[in-house]
Amino acid sequence: MPDVPTRCRSCGAVDLRPVLSLGRTPLANALRTAEQLEEPEQTYPLEVVFCPRCALVQITETVPPEVLFSEYFYLSSFSDTVVQNAEALARRLIGSQALGPESLVLEIASNDGYLLQHYHHKGIPVIGIEPAANIARVAREERGIPTRCEFFGERLAAELRGSGKLADVIHGNNVLAHAADLNGVVRGISLVLKPRGVAVIEVPYVKDLIDHCEFDTIYHEHLCYFSLTALWRLFARHGLEIRDVERIPIHGGSLRIFVTGADGSAELEAPAGAVARLLDEEAAWSGDSEAFYRGFGSRVERLREDLLRLLAGLKAQGKRIAAYGASAKGSTLLNYFGIGRETLDFVVDRSTVKQGRYTPGTRLPIHAPERLLEEMPEYVLLLTWNFADEILAQQEAYRRRGGRFIIPIPECRVV
Ligand code: ZN
Repeated sequence: MPDVPTRCRSCGAVDLRPVLSLGRTPLANALRTAEQLEEPEQTYPLEVVFCPRCALVQITETVPPEVLFSEYFYLSSFSDTVVQNAEALARRLIGSQALGPESLVLEIASNDGYLLQHYHHKGIPVIGIEPAANIARVAREERGIPTRCEFFGERLAAELRGSGKLADVIHGNNVLAHAADLNGVVRGISLVLKPRGVAVIEVPYVKDLIDHCEFDTIYHEHLCYFSLTALWRLFARHGLEIRDVERIPIHGGSLRIFVTGADGSAELEAPAGAVARLLDEEAAWSGDSEAFYRGFGSRVERLREDLLRLLAGLKAQGKRIAAYGASAKGSTLLNYFGIGRETLDFVVDRSTVKQGRYTPGTRLPIHAPERLLEEMPEYVLLLTWNFADEILAQQEAYRRRGGRFIIPIPECRVV
């Protein structure tokens, strides 16, 4: 069979440049049950590339979405930070868009309704779109959020539009990076957003990923890693304008963009305000060129050496080490760095749907966080370092009794 060149997910260019190769890894959220422990695990290549034409950083492999997302374990409500941010954001949009009982708020990948509940409680109509059946059920049954268990794209958007369901506000948190059909999602947004409506989209920021060596946010669900430059080109292709942008600390550093509906005029306005400033900044640090992404791989390698040295030293002293956070991030880090049962005794996680299962590839048992106090391992490797403040506060009792946390990123430190 002839080699089919990989095309850019945004602009279709074929001349993609390598940035980092993480080898073959199992799916980062495919937690194992006890019965599955003996079965072989499917692995997929994880190759990061840069598109010189539209500046999008992306991975080459697309695992079919129905394999990735049919049973999903990330319940947003298990993070206090996420829930508090969601409430503040909803309050802000209710004010700025003057939302009321005639309005409609749509969320793409609405998870367990953690965000839409804040509109719903105020009597503002909402529709959640969540492809993971187990999570859509939580949203419907526990929060009363009308939730369509589907993938969002052009087809669903056209159907909503056809039934007169146009949105005043569309939320899409960490959805663009997951979209197998990137242009389809953005086209879908252009179809269902009212001309004066606003789409509020959050994506992990590629600048933070590179600067802080957050290579563990790279896994098969995250197909793209955005700069504002890449986002601007993507939305402009669909006649949508990014009116405002904010850098927010969530998930190790993200961009929140505010996109206004297509008003039918052929010409997009030139970027202004914060958007123009950040685009200029990106041009200054070469976010639109390959040069910025060179050297990332060797920094990740140094990080690996530092962490392995620290862990080996602790094991040599007979210390017991557990891990916190059976997250997709953690899976990338453990699998790529080759850290498993020889080093870690178990993993704890607050999410009750994860407890009792095993981590992908490394097959560490997942317990409730209380296990840390029961067993008092001397060290805990914090895999969900992006929620470090929150978790360290929750684990005060463990720390008071002498337990220490190892934070692996952006550089190894013990707290
Ligand atoms: Zn491209």
